[in-house]
Amino acid sequence: MSTTDTAHTAGAARTPTGPLVEIRRVRKSFGAHQVLRDISLEVPEGTVTVLLGPSGSGKSTLLRCINHLETIDGGRIIVDGELIGYRQAGHATHEMTPRQIARQRRGIGMVFQRFNLFPHMTALENITEAPVGIARIPSATAKARARELLDRVGLADFAGHYPSQLSGGQQQRVAIARALAMSPKLMLFDEPTSALDPELVGDVLDVMRELADDGMTMIVVTHEIGFARGVADQVVFMDGGVVVESGTAAAVIDTPQRQRTRNFLESVR
Ligand code: ADP
Ligand code: MG
Repeated sequence: MSTTDTAHTAGAARTPTGPLVEIRRVRKSFGAHQVLRDISLEVPEGTVTVLLGPSGSGKSTLLRCINHLETIDGGRIIVDGELIGYRQAGHATHEMTPRQIARQRRGIGMVFQRFNLFPHMTALENITEAPVGIARIPSATAKARARELLDRVGLADFAGHYPSQLSGGQQQRVAIARALAMSPKLMLFDEPTSALDPELVGDVLDVMRELADDGMTMIVVTHEIGFARGVADQVVFMDGGVVVESGTAAAVIDTPQRQRTRNFLESVR
């Protein structure tokens, strides 16, 4: 995005009652393919937003833009009062340095479809790696916290297990614990249960549900309509790079207003 584009759209820092995440008119293309055409949404602190949409509708790209894995071409993303990727000095807007980006990324946890654990590290080591290596937390403190997190995701007895010794569902719960270890203010989930055998999905969704109950702000891409109905404060249906429809889970899932939303819901039910 151009500097002037950002400077015009970058607003004041978040007011105490403002949303934790503000996505305003975001655009993103890969070559000639405009994947995100004009995406706006807000996520209040302590709430869960479920993103629904057909394959290729830009859901992963949107999450990746929030977490610095892609850069946007226009619009703005603000998390906790800070513009993602840009820094304001007076009226000027500058791109962030790699160090500033790393700091910003630390406040955002992400869990992918594939568990992405380090295969040569135990569950405990996977969880303590970033706190010790990046955040410089003392090893003993990080280990104690990792054990608490393993307990929280139902894996207290698996600290010494390597990823290859864990089921997909267990690995995904370690991945969630690993993301939580950096004490993020926002958690992003990109189809966290799509790669799992059906009987392992429930445990992962239960952990996510508890996280939501504890007040974590979450953006979740999932086709688990039951989870969306039970947990989401807001459901956003994306298609063709735009938000087609958004609202409460009851509104979007049970009484969708748009034909595209109805077609999609029929295809995943
Ligand atoms: P979704 O997660 O909703 O299935 P994605 O955000 O993964 O959709 O992808 C949206 C579109 O962007 C797809 O057509 C995909 O092929 C394209 N796309 C995603 N990442 C890239 C990339 N790095 N380079 C080129 N095209 C990409
Ligand atoms: Mg995707």
